[in-house]
Amino acid sequence: MTSAHTDPAPVTVRVPAKVNLELLVGPLRDDGFHALSTVYQAVNLHDDVTVAINDEWRCSVVGPYADVVPTDSSNLAMRAARLLADETAIDAAVHISINKSIPVAGGMAGGSADAAATLVACDRLWGLGLSTEELEEYAAELGSDVPFLIRGGTAMGSGRGERLAPVLARGSYHWVFAISDIGLSTPEVYAECDRLRDGSSPRADVPEPNSQLMAALRTGDPHALAPQLTNDLQEAAVSLRPELGELLESGMEFGALGGIVSGSGPTVAFLVEDVEAAIDLTVALTATGAAREVRKAVGPVHGAHVIPARVD
Ligand code: ATP
Repeated sequence: MTSAHTDPAPVTVRVPAKVNLELLVGPLRDDGFHALSTVYQAVNLHDDVTVAINDEWRCSVVGPYADVVPTDSSNLAMRAARLLADETAIDAAVHISINKSIPVAGGMAGGSADAAATLVACDRLWGLGLSTEELEEYAAELGSDVPFLIRGGTAMGSGRGERLAPVLARGSYHWVFAISDIGLSTPEVYAECDRLRDGSSPRADVPEPNSQLMAALRTGDPHALAPQLTNDLQEAAVSLRPELGELLESGMEFGALGGIVSGSGPTVAFLVEDVEAAIDLTVALTATGAAREVRKAVGPVHGAHVIPARVD
């Protein structure tokens, strides 16, 4: 039973979405995952996740995508809270409320972001005092992208994406995300990637980050970064949904410096020169009607972090 006098105050954590500046897909490992080398960047499309002591486990979602996110035990935030409670022998349930702005099922890791936010929020709520490294270890059990969403910034990911190393990146980068209605699941895209490669993977070995991309990030110049954007899943995503190829072409014609399918898609991320270019591209892409929604963002930004409680 909970008591209003002793319960700690609810904790709200803000968490970003991610874009993969580089996603190199290597061979299939024995555990069924592909060996990856990726460079993540956190961008300022955010979810806010609030956890509060409650008599029973509960999850609720508000925001424009609320109706397509599960609120049962399959919600990744719920899985994160239960994992942390089990691992740290906490015998208390929480109500998790997610204010969702990260597009769902778009290759921007929104579910992983909510899991990352929940770990950070529950750590604070329950007074566990875990280190970032400890939280990232729990995060890796929940999904390949979850540790990065705790860390934020720009970072390399190896293994299946969960082993992080810092990257020196200067400056800020302006992005425009074209979010389409085309359904595309992550396993479907990996399967198509394997099919297209037909056993003749151009990356027979475990891939390594491209040094030219690293050099471009040190300059802080989007013109240097644009030609280095790489996604090995892009061919597969475009093969399954040719409209994505057309969307990429439109964005380039409208002045983007570079364009890439985000993660396993179907969102397409365009790198632009500055905020004015971001506004122009957003208007142009919106006018074509080729995307359900077009959103501007800036990266890198911080990973999951506690923010002051909202006063409504
Ligand atoms: P990734 O980039 O990690 O492949 P994604 O951005 O393509 O992920 P998500 O937004 O994480 O996709 O959602 C994928 C599916 O996960 C959704 O369709 C939804 O059913 C389920 N899901 C579970 N928990 C959540 C959550 N907290 N937020 C969003 N989706 C969730």
